[in-house]
Amino acid sequence: MSAIPQNLQAVRDRIAIAAQSAGRSPDQVLLLAVSKTFGADAVLEALQAGQYAFGENYLQEALDKMATVAAALPGNLKAPPQWHFIGPIQSNKTRHISEHFDWVHTVERIKIAQRLSDQRPSTLPPLQICLQVNISAEASKSGIEPDQLSALAHAVSVLPRLRLRGLMAIPEASQNLAQQAQTFRQLALLLERLRQDGLELDTLSMGMSADMTAAIAEGATIVRIGSAIFGERNYE
Ligand SMILES: *Cc1c(COP(=O)(O)O)cnc(C)c1O
Repeated sequence: MSAIPQNLQAVRDRIAIAAQSAGRSPDQVLLLAVSKTFGADAVLEALQAGQYAFGENYLQEALDKMATVAAALPGNLKAPPQWHFIGPIQSNKTRHISEHFDWVHTVERIKIAQRLSDQRPSTLPPLQICLQVNISAEASKSGIEPDQLSALAHAVSVLPRLRLRGLMAIPEASQNLAQQAQTFRQLALLLERLRQDGLELDTLSMGMSADMTAAIAEGATIVRIGSAIFGERNYE
């Protein structure tokens, strides 16, 4: 028997405890199940267990999986799955992303945002966008630098087929709770500053399997959880 339903419940419990200890409601935290490297079977199992939002990093893998899931959707679902793109974006991939996803968390350049907006089909609601911020200032990590964030946010906020919702970050891995908290607090402060600047933003996409508790304490509204739900990934 698969562990996915049990793992999902354990993650929901962790989210609820973290939210309550922070004086927040668990309803304020969306659980995004990161299904990269796992097949459509795993997604369907999670859907049956009540999971609704899924995150994918690799476009071709995601498109194949989405088609398989759509063809096998059980009839008793309350709503079809919601798909979030959370991987690096190459400009020749924007059309498929804008046509197939509900959210994109990894926008870091105006050129990509412009293409996503231009290519978003008029039959779909606006694409929901988070800007990825390079919060740990690591040369290797992607994301806009904090000092350039305000200009990008204002430029993206006026694109007609996008709706800018907030910020996303993948901090440098750390076992140190105080350090995790400090990094997440920086992202929360950046969001707060943009709101004071007049942008209507409500989303902080931060926290993964290893650091979701600290992220929720600092205000995460979306946690992106892979291995704690689906198990360790095998990249072969
Ligand atoms: C893979 C991935 C996750 C999930 O990581 P886990 O540690 O397995 O929970 C979250 N966010 C992004 C951007 C990822 O690439």
